[in-house]
Amino acid sequence: MAEKFLARHTTASLRTLLDGKKPVVALIPVGSTEPHGPHLGLATDVVISAAACVKACELFEKKGPLTALIAPALPYGVTDCATGFAGAVSVPAAALTAYAAAVCDGLLASGIRHVCLVNNHLEPAHDAAIRAVVAGREGRVSVACPLTKKWARTLSAEFKSGACHAGRYETSIMLAAAPEMVDDSMRSVLAPVPISLSQKLGEGVTTFLEMGMELAYAGDPAAATVAEGEQLIHRLAEMVVGEVREALGLPT
Ligand SMILES: [Zn+2]
Repeated sequence: MAEKFLARHTTASLRTLLDGKKPVVALIPVGSTEPHGPHLGLATDVVISAAACVKACELFEKKGPLTALIAPALPYGVTDCATGFAGAVSVPAAALTAYAAAVCDGLLASGIRHVCLVNNHLEPAHDAAIRAVVAGREGRVSVACPLTKKWARTLSAEFKSGACHAGRYETSIMLAAAPEMVDDSMRSVLAPVPISLSQKLGEGVTTFLEMGMELAYAGDPAAATVAEGEQLIHRLAEMVVGEVREALGLPT
């Protein structure tokens, strides 16, 4: 497989790729820098997005007719829910939209045919800030995010319950994608926290602390497995492929 990380290309090797027959699509992993329980690193969301992008590149390679590259990530987001925890670094929504849009425009200006923002930080204000980039750039920029109902449906029971911050869902993916970022002895003794973030947000409770998540996780991290993580990464990759092909008018 050809080099799939955009930033590892030289300007000359990228030029060659852009001048080739296949359109080039850039996937940007998007996440946050925020607490993910006592057992996962602050970069969890962007690592999940990157894992989905790596797998998506493999699927694109099989399905053609385009070349997918993974562009440098956007690792900071709107993380007001995590207020009060060390490592929660929130940026204003408008700043995030403007920055992400400028990055997309830069990639498009250099000859990239399409940019997909692959987002796995699911705070509603962050999701909205990323989706706002698409306005005026339809067909050239898309968003792949599991909050979109047709993809949410393909994910695990815990994900659908909304009790899924650093729980079984995210911890499984991290065990498969970046086990060095999981404190396994810690996560295996964590008690389940059955607090649904989507339900709490719907009730107007906006921070992890107000929701009762003193340890910044919800769900059941002790139940996580590598096998489930691999399956979920595959589903997220299919989401990326689906969004890009739909945006480009290719059969999905
Ligand atoms: Zn997360």
